[in-house]
Amino acid sequence: MMRVMPLMVCAVLVTPAWSAELRVGAAAVPITPPTGIPMAGYYSERGAQGVHDDLQAKAIVLEAGGRAVALVVLDLISTPRGLVELTRKEIERTTHLQGADVMISATHTHTGPVLGRDSRFGGQSDVVRDYLSGLPGRIAEAVRLAESRLTPAKVFAARGREESIAFNRRYHMTDGTVGWNPGKLNPKILKPAGPIDPEVPVVYFESTGGKPLATYVNYAVHLDNVGQSQISADLPYTLSRTLTDFKGPEMITLFSAGCCGDVNHIDVRWGEPQRGFANAARMGTILAAEVLRAWPHLKPIDAPAIRVKSTMVSLALPEVGDGDVEKARQVVARMQGRRAERPGFMEMVQAFKVLDVAAAGPAAGGRGPGSRPWERVGVGIAPWRDLRGAGPGDQAGLPVPAHGHRRAGQRCDRLHPGAPGLRPG
Ligand SMILES: [Zn+2]
Repeated sequence: MMRVMPLMVCAVLVTPAWSAELRVGAAAVPITPPTGIPMAGYYSERGAQGVHDDLQAKAIVLEAGGRAVALVVLDLISTPRGLVELTRKEIERTTHLQGADVMISATHTHTGPVLGRDSRFGGQSDVVRDYLSGLPGRIAEAVRLAESRLTPAKVFAARGREESIAFNRRYHMTDGTVGWNPGKLNPKILKPAGPIDPEVPVVYFESTGGKPLATYVNYAVHLDNVGQSQISADLPYTLSRTLTDFKGPEMITLFSAGCCGDVNHIDVRWGEPQRGFANAARMGTILAAEVLRAWPHLKPIDAPAIRVKSTMVSLALPEVGDGDVEKARQVVARMQGRRAERPGFMEMVQAFKVLDVAAAGPAAGGRGPGSRPWERVGVGIAPWRDLRGAGPGDQAGLPVPAHGHRRAGQRCDRLHPGAPGLRPG
């Protein structure tokens, strides 16, 4: 049984005059954790053994009509609510921006640090506590730097389409079941049981003098391409490097994750393993190629207007009984026991899902029985003429909370029709 979800909506409309000048600045600040830090992404504790490529906090600040907003993307597994709140406070303290006008999202890289103090996989360690305490300041520093670089700018947008590197991981099987990651070349696979989102929206900013400033790319694929125990941003590393080769070292590339929980990189028709840095490089190269293919189609957005919308959505969670919780605890206990007793992967997935749902209930001080608040913040950039008369929900943008599963995203979109991905005018 699903419970009713409370909903709070607020919207901020930035309404510059026709002639309002757009100014844009961008910056990236490393947020690479120290070696040894427990890593996120899997159901076991593993310490980072080295750094393949640095994690970054990247920010684009947009200003028009006297008001500034920021798009921030973090090379992290998620954006915990507490981190967002602390970061927004720090941004308010160190910049002229309002915290509510900053959209913070994570790429969902699986090769970064654990973030929650409640993580069972090393979250209580001192190294995680120290890392987390410094994180809001580092992210705010990216916004502060981007703000300090504000310069008169133009904005362009295009849409690419890439269908060859993303796959829905749920499949109809010959026995009538729906399989989840059923394995490469599995002869029982009939067809995908869900969609992918192949669109590649690209927004490019350059100064009025023609200097490249930033590119914002959105794509729906689960960033679990590397694995193992080296820190890496995953495919955004190669994407950024390739676009930098094209537009110069000062341009900042932000990759933002679309609705990608059930969309991953595993091509079940291809027998080769798809793991490691080579796989992330292949993914990033192909995505970069699509961005570059879209480049000649970039269209300027004339007299751009900026609009921010923030919506609190409490998603309904399934009913979890005491028996389910007890069973889940037993699975976790078996995980810590002898190797022969270790539960299967799907058993662990289910157990953590149950414990997660149980933790989000009223006992955890949640907003309502069995619901979890998610914030959707959208920044829309569109020709001012298209924003006149627009109401909340129109022309809003991006951002699915990290690990936003396709079904959760669809649920959000049913609640907020007309608020899908970044809309380039
Ligand atoms: Zn994941």
